[in-house]
Amino acid sequence: MAILHPTPPAATPPPNSPARERYCAVREQALAELHAFEALDRARVRPWQLDRLSEQVAYARRESPFYRRQFAEAAPPDGSDGEKLLAALPFTTKKDLRDGYPLGLIAAPLTSLARYGESTGSTGSPTSSAITYRDWVRGNVSTEQSVGHRYGPGDTVFVAIPYELSFAAYDVDRALETVGATVVGVGILSAVCPIERTARMIAALRPAGIVCSPTRALRLFDLLTEMGHDPAALGVRTVLYVGETCSPAKLAKISRMWQAELVPAYGTTETNSLALSCGHGRAHLTEDRHLFEVLDPLTAAPLADGTTGELVVTTLVAEAMPLLRYRTGDLVSIAPEPCPCGSVRRTVRHHGRASDRLLVDGRPIDRLDLEEAVLSVPGTGLYYAAGIRDERLHIRVECAGRAARQVCTDIADGVEARFGAAATVTEVDRATVGRAMDRMLKPGNLTLEDLEAAR
Ligand SMILES: [Zn+2]
Repeated sequence: MAILHPTPPAATPPPNSPARERYCAVREQALAELHAFEALDRARVRPWQLDRLSEQVAYARRESPFYRRQFAEAAPPDGSDGEKLLAALPFTTKKDLRDGYPLGLIAAPLTSLARYGESTGSTGSPTSSAITYRDWVRGNVSTEQSVGHRYGPGDTVFVAIPYELSFAAYDVDRALETVGATVVGVGILSAVCPIERTARMIAALRPAGIVCSPTRALRLFDLLTEMGHDPAALGVRTVLYVGETCSPAKLAKISRMWQAELVPAYGTTETNSLALSCGHGRAHLTEDRHLFEVLDPLTAAPLADGTTGELVVTTLVAEAMPLLRYRTGDLVSIAPEPCPCGSVRRTVRHHGRASDRLLVDGRPIDRLDLEEAVLSVPGTGLYYAAGIRDERLHIRVECAGRAARQVCTDIADGVEARFGAAATVTEVDRATVGRAMDRMLKPGNLTLEDLEAAR
């Protein structure tokens, strides 16, 4: 008996479709801009950026309610000297974004926005973000170029970062699709696809890559092991990690466990991606779309490349939401030397949030430095949390492979020697850590309180 199959609909619209023409035109222009920027000499980058800065300031002043108000009080100098203009611009802060919620910083009419999103609000009231279609495609082509170094046709890639409210998951999802990979959009913490289901699907589908936070990669490893699988044998080549940063000690452990390369990407909810990895696995700043400054978080004095400070971002070509000298609160260092890949864009390392510094006896300790000091001690597992209790540093750490008491003593000695701070160090079991993390949107921020709540 013959079975008639209906002809499937065409996968792409006909060539004369206005939607397709619009997409092709915007995409081709975005690619041309990206390539033109990449062809610049490093010495030409700053003047090129300063030219765009004066246009962006004029645009923000004209179209953004927030900047219109700000510049009505104190007009910026004219844009003929870009360096002077930049130095004279006031900072934009997270508080400005909160106060301007929802549309106060948006410079384009609602009808011209392609996407609107918000921060999770996990650390205060939410802030909004928005992009026009041109903003969106400009970001997409950069992400596409980056993921194209790692994935292509025949590769299955899991996207295990939140799809809700933000743009990052859709951006990487779209880029993966464009380079020909098979995308599995599992998200995180959803009722439909809890992390156990993601782990089962990874075992069944054996992806070439996972896009997730480093801590989520650890948790998936644990779950797969508990399910009786050998995660390192599943064929995952690359973990593209976003959403949190962690110490070299923790990254090395994750890489060893999964037998996979760990590749960074970095961005904020307000700006979308700010750094994307190259073929050498280094995160290159999106200097074709943003001007970056690294400043002392307390004095706002500019810091030289190679020094860790707060990243301050100015958009150069944003249509929907121009941001001038936006203080991200993220600690970064920009490498003083060029990357072997030859890109004109500088590379960056993210060192966590300025607000994540622990104050012990009035001395600040960077979380990542502490993590490095804790997790580089032989016999430590993968997880730890630290906080201040009764003005004393408390650390809880997973121990594996060596007597826990000795491991805790070694950590306390190491912390004392490195930071001059006395610490109380106790063991925590992995089951408690797992219960705590599975409830968290950002498991990399595990605290003593989270562990207590999960007991
Ligand atoms: Zn590179």
